[in-house]
Amino acid sequence: MHIHPDASAVARSLAPDEPVILNRPHAAARAARFFATKFPGKALYAVKANPSPDLIKILWANGITHFDVASIAEVRMVRATLPQATLCFMHPVKTASAIREAYFQHGVRTFSLDTQDEVEKIVAATTDSEGNPAKDLRLCVRLRVSSDYSELSLASKFGIDLADAGALLQSTRQVADWLGVCFHVGSQAMTPFAYVQAMERARAAIADAGVVIDMIDVGGGFPSCYPGMEPPPLEDYFAIIHRHFEALPIAYNAELWCEPGRALSAEYNSLIVKVEKRRGDELFINDGAYGALYDAAHVAWRFPVRHIARDETNDNAAIDVAEMQPFSFYGPTCDDADFMEGPFMLPAEIKAGDWIEVGMLGAYGAAMRTAFNGFGTGEVVNVADEPMASLYTGRPDPRVSDNVVSLR
Ligand SMILES: *Cc1c(COP(=O)(O)O)cnc(C)c1O
Repeated sequence: MHIHPDASAVARSLAPDEPVILNRPHAAARAARFFATKFPGKALYAVKANPSPDLIKILWANGITHFDVASIAEVRMVRATLPQATLCFMHPVKTASAIREAYFQHGVRTFSLDTQDEVEKIVAATTDSEGNPAKDLRLCVRLRVSSDYSELSLASKFGIDLADAGALLQSTRQVADWLGVCFHVGSQAMTPFAYVQAMERARAAIADAGVVIDMIDVGGGFPSCYPGMEPPPLEDYFAIIHRHFEALPIAYNAELWCEPGRALSAEYNSLIVKVEKRRGDELFINDGAYGALYDAAHVAWRFPVRHIARDETNDNAAIDVAEMQPFSFYGPTCDDADFMEGPFMLPAEIKAGDWIEVGMLGAYGAAMRTAFNGFGTGEVVNVADEPMASLYTGRPDPRVSDNVVSLR
């Protein structure tokens, strides 16, 4: 694939009328190497954040060997892409046919669960045709933990309550060759203390159960960098998690896992959108709530933006920060909900026909596109420049990241 220097070069050479997804393979490779070498345990990639086979191959080539999959379609896709990878089926509510296919056809041994019913379902679905139950199940009991420190809650849907966790750990231990405890603190956890609180809950459940625990999986939630959301360095998260892991009452050789989705994929993609119309401080663009900007519309997530003028060559570079003003966006569909409040900081002179690069869309961006109302197609190209922000290069450069630093 041809590699363009940056979004501006792409816009000028393709003059795209449709949104264009930009891939930054170097950024995904750097994130993978960071987790593979610095996390004090094993880092799985949570495929749902961005199920691109190209991305998955990059992560694999840079040290990510285990993949957290949540549906049989994800199992098949990762297995077809990476025949050697270890797949872990970490959705606590699965169909029996998905478990059976994953176990017998794709070599999946690790499954998560949060009820006794699911334990029984997994045992039944992995029993062979002669009636012999599987002897190599690796099961993870999902605990419910608080999402207080995260931007997006994952606290209400999955996980067993602490009061019932001991009994479930005991019964799961009876059928599992290897037993783990997992949880998810919510996405974009803005402080490492999110994990401390969850690990305290894990400690209480383990003490209550009195069974041998072979693995602790601290889940996803590792943050990326967005306007108004600049987290502490990931090394701080790793150090605190490691310290609390070492103090847990678990097997001496117990493993520590994590399952980042966002942190491994956010920097991989940005998006070029075209301004179709301007109405005051509202810009009508060609992607939105039903496209890669799902989170910008549905949870008012602020993504960093950069102006690409149609008829100039200097873009943002010559524009003083003082000339920037807040805009909101409308997406292309006929739905009123296709609205993104922002604020997105762009030059006052922006007009119809110009383009905007929207950054940090690799996680839950490219993955969320639909074809609603006939929109949502477009090209994918590779670019060589840096993402608008990175957790893997030290602090963002304030000259190029006015949209990343907090407005306050
Ligand atoms: C979504 C999910 C992840 C990834 O979460 P991020 O916040 O993107 O890191 C990890 N594990 C499980 C079980 C998930 O559902």
